[in-house]
Amino acid sequence: MKIQKVLTLAAPVIFSMTLLNPTAVAAQSRFDEQFVSYPTYSGNDLELLVDNSGTHFRLWSPKAQEARVNLYDNGHTGSPYQTLSMKADRANGTWTASVPEKLYGKFYTFQIMADGKWKDETPGVWAKAVGVNGKRAAIIDLAKTDPEGWATDKGPAVKNFSDVIVYEMHHRDMSMHPSSGIANKGKFLALTEEGTVSPLGEKTGIDHLKELGITHVHILPSYDYNSVDEMNLQNNTYNWGYDPQNYNAPEGSYSTNPSDPETRIREMKEMVKALHDAGIGVIMDVVYNHTAENDGSNFELTAPGYYHRHWDDGKYSDASGCGNETASDRQQMRDYIINSTKYWADEYHIDGFRFDLMAIHDTETMNEVAAELKKINPDIFVYGEGWTAGDSPLAVDRRALKENVSKMKDIAVFSDDLRDAVKGHYSNAEDRGFATGKPGNEETVKIGIVAATPHPQVDYKKGNNSKFPYAESPEMIVNYVSCHDDLSLTDKLHKSMAGEPEKNMLEAAKLAQTIVFTSQGTPFMFAGEEIFRDKKGVHNSYKSPDSINAIDWNNKTKYHDQFEYYKGLTALRKAHPAFRMTSADDIARHLVFDKIDSAKTPNLISYSLRDHANGDSWNEIKLVFNGASEPQTVNIKKGDWKIVAKDGKISPAEGLGTTKGGKITLAPYSALILARE
Ligand code: CA
Repeated sequence: MKIQKVLTLAAPVIFSMTLLNPTAVAAQSRFDEQFVSYPTYSGNDLELLVDNSGTHFRLWSPKAQEARVNLYDNGHTGSPYQTLSMKADRANGTWTASVPEKLYGKFYTFQIMADGKWKDETPGVWAKAVGVNGKRAAIIDLAKTDPEGWATDKGPAVKNFSDVIVYEMHHRDMSMHPSSGIANKGKFLALTEEGTVSPLGEKTGIDHLKELGITHVHILPSYDYNSVDEMNLQNNTYNWGYDPQNYNAPEGSYSTNPSDPETRIREMKEMVKALHDAGIGVIMDVVYNHTAENDGSNFELTAPGYYHRHWDDGKYSDASGCGNETASDRQQMRDYIINSTKYWADEYHIDGFRFDLMAIHDTETMNEVAAELKKINPDIFVYGEGWTAGDSPLAVDRRALKENVSKMKDIAVFSDDLRDAVKGHYSNAEDRGFATGKPGNEETVKIGIVAATPHPQVDYKKGNNSKFPYAESPEMIVNYVSCHDDLSLTDKLHKSMAGEPEKNMLEAAKLAQTIVFTSQGTPFMFAGEEIFRDKKGVHNSYKSPDSINAIDWNNKTKYHDQFEYYKGLTALRKAHPAFRMTSADDIARHLVFDKIDSAKTPNLISYSLRDHANGDSWNEIKLVFNGASEPQTVNIKKGDWKIVAKDGKISPAEGLGTTKGGKITLAPYSALILARE
């Protein structure tokens, strides 16, 4: 069966409630105990090494009865021109074979014998280049895939992770629509094209990203995945890519020639370089938590049973909701995740990693990942989904859960607290949130504003999702109101505000993102929301066609006011460190909420960032959020205030005028931002 990603970002309250009680969880399964004694090997010559003495293969497979390498002239057809028997190196569980020639241009697969039978061919788990559809590994000279200037290529410097502004995008969403004006539609190369415009003359693609002012793109899975047939690209099949096949090679359908193993590598590097040249970092979505196939996965075909977790009866456990889950708590799998991310950071200059269903991994692994990546580049940003999509044999206290984030150093988690409180519950389309007029979410929004850190004015017991300050530092939190999963913000507003004029939805969108962009922690947005993109109401659009998923760039003209507002949000955040504090103590000291009785005046939050917070040039910043469908009036302390944002307009540098304070009325669904020197 082909497993598809069905459950994704659904921070399932039902699981986190039960899983928080460690006694309710089964011990590591008895079936899995057999793997503890396996010898391990993580040398950098795993599977393939080409040097002056020839081509060398080393497959890790401790329990194989025999192992062999099939050599091919071609990436997907024909029989092997030669098959090499491999020799066991029992001390470290590997099998080796060598030939004296450099086999550049050739392809290979491994096969192992288990229970007296040869298993299916596999490119192994460490293929860094593959033939079309990833069935055979390719032998290439990686140095030849480097674009011009690669040796000096570098991502943007990141002083603190709270300085990062994340823009989450899928390659096809960005460029497939005819209005993108981009030639290489749906390809890595799309983001290398400068000067592209919509039919109405608005910048698109990489120029649009520069204009918007985000600091990092977060690209949906870009390693080789399973679901798109790379030999039938004319069918234009769409998939998010949460069905991993080869973790260490780029996806072929995003290249201009999937049959040439070098092309996808070179083109992905060209994309990274173009973004770096534009001052934009590249974060990759990684899905080490499960594989597309169970018995047919490369993990299972090389070391049966080892890389996945199981229940006592030997059945695959399935915390991913996609049929299986991997076993980061086992040394060879842990090393695999560490070495694979290091490879992407080294070879592709990747600036960050977003871990899908990160809580399937253990905190120890995640800490080692972050520590090892720091050695390559201290600016690498690691964050993930601090939840699972099902139960796991891994003990709850070991899981890289949101609630365990304080056990992890230099790792951030998504705040589903802010997400659901601002716009309404992710799975209930009609449910409204703070920014769309539903009372009762004020305290949870405040949890998001202080980045889930301890704060004397936040009552965590009233939180909708989490009941305690789980983050020790704001750099552990990624704030957002929507992402690729579930309804886009635009669709959510259309569903939950049905019957209201679209203008109200546009204002609510601005308010929702104002909360995200001014909150402590790292802001994260879904591509195209700045021009009110939708997904035509489709919730789980993982394999919906481009007609659902592609961004219509004509929206940039239609919703130009929206785009200008988002530009204002990125500019405001980048100019003012008060929104980017780096310690919980600073937040507790400088962020002061005004006393509002939410029972009497719901959907109103007001707070100050005081005393030049985090070295800000502004002495005090006042933020007031009115999520009600009616205007609300607040009393602002007397002073010489600059109006930074009001009633759906924003102007961080020049301002929208001044006020002496006193009574100020906010339009429905709007934010007020004032600043004084
Ligand atoms: Ca593929």
